[in-house]
Amino acid sequence: MTKYITVIGLEVHAELKTKSKAFCSCSTEFGGVPNTHVCPVCLGMPGALPSLNKQVVEFAIRAGLALNCEIKVFNKFDRKNYFYPDLSKNYQISQYDKPICKHGHIDINLDGSEKRIGITRIHMEEDAGKLVHNGATISSSSSSSVDYNRAGVPLIEIVSEPDMRSAEEARAYLENLKAILEYIDVCDCKMQEGSLRCDANISIMPEGATKFGTRAEIKNLNSFRALVRAIDYEVERQKAVLEKGEEVVQETRTWDDTAGVTKSMRSKEEAHDYRYFAEPDLLPVELDEAWIERVRAELPELPAQRQARLMQDFGLPKYDASIIVATKAMAEYFDEAVKTTQDAKGIANWLLGDVSAYLNNEGITISEFNVTPAHLAELVNLTKEGVLSSKLAKKVFAEMLKADKAPKTFVKELGLEQVSDESAIIKLVEETLAENPQSVADFKAGKERAIGFLVGQIMKKSKGKANPEIVQKLLREALG
Ligand code: ADP
Ligand code: MG
Ligand code: ZN
Repeated sequence: MTKYITVIGLEVHAELKTKSKAFCSCSTEFGGVPNTHVCPVCLGMPGALPSLNKQVVEFAIRAGLALNCEIKVFNKFDRKNYFYPDLSKNYQISQYDKPICKHGHIDINLDGSEKRIGITRIHMEEDAGKLVHNGATISSSSSSSVDYNRAGVPLIEIVSEPDMRSAEEARAYLENLKAILEYIDVCDCKMQEGSLRCDANISIMPEGATKFGTRAEIKNLNSFRALVRAIDYEVERQKAVLEKGEEVVQETRTWDDTAGVTKSMRSKEEAHDYRYFAEPDLLPVELDEAWIERVRAELPELPAQRQARLMQDFGLPKYDASIIVATKAMAEYFDEAVKTTQDAKGIANWLLGDVSAYLNNEGITISEFNVTPAHLAELVNLTKEGVLSSKLAKKVFAEMLKADKAPKTFVKELGLEQVSDESAIIKLVEETLAENPQSVADFKAGKERAIGFLVGQIMKKSKGKANPEIVQKLLREALG
């Protein structure tokens, strides 16, 4: 059987986090009463004129810089003409031949090797309204309603080069892109709510071919899982078509998540079908270089830089660091937790292990996680000090998931009750001092840290049950 190579290019739409729409002052807020965030401009009333929201341009510049693009000082808006009920103007204001950003890239990392995925262009455009079918599907509905609240909400479309060769690469690219957009705070990237949407262009070609195959464009991919499954399905479908001696047709297909298949929607429209022409109601955009430089200077730390920092400052392995920085919320959680523990690797282990497993299981993100960073840090400290064995720590963690109280509370409740009887503890203190003359000497030489080690040893001896405050007190007394 012929071996095939998969070729993938992604088109990603990101809704920008502006307060008002792209060309009018209506609110962009999600989920308002239908048709309450509208005005003559975004409804496309005759004679109403658009005026460009400066923040949209600033966000597009920020995204372009973060994605290593050239920012085009001269760019312009065009009309993309088509009829659909969710588009009240019958055209979408977009950018065609002169987009704001070109020639960028994202470096992805898979199994330890780095690969650069090109970004062809980023352009600014407006979103359409939303059709609400009054039945389960469009074909089983006797009517549909339309909500124009989203019409005119600003988007950037980020178009990649056809540089990806597998579903895993496409996933890694989208994960990186999402992380960058979150870090630079231009989009809230909620795939389920549609604020980040991805279309996948997929083709296959026989190994050794010099020309790409005909692509299908897959819509309606609203999760990473859907992206991967749709690519895998579509590649097999196209193989089967070619193996039958038929040809793949260029078309737009939709992903049916329940059935796990892609379905033909319509034959692919060409650019000339849209009758693009320069938007006559808006001036071309001419950017001031000083503005671009200001946005560049104000760029926040990006995921790749943050990863390097976690490796450098906390000695985290590359893998751990890359997972932690993949979402801004996880990176912030980590930064918060290490404020109260020295054991950064301990925090990383929890985040990559039990915490991630729990979040996946519950289908939630770390922003919705009920255990505070300080409490996780305390749990790590208790383990590090030998108060809790790793087995008991897991037990305490399970309790913390049910109710986020300080781990120490659970230590009590679970009967890991501490021994506070001084005569029992003093024996342990004496034994420990006799066994650790070096630490005693260190302490006497002024190394306050040695105390922590000695406390840990005593706690271990008591199987985590000695009261640490009393241990501290007796230890200091014994050390004079
Ligand atoms: P269109 O508006 O027709 O979808 P775009 O230029 O916006 O065109 O997007 C085309 C996308 O398809 C890009 O992401 C590009 O990388 C990708 N692409 C182009 N040719 C192929 C191909 N043969 N196989 C897979 N992807 C492709
Ligand atoms: Mg397209
Ligand atoms: Zn409006």
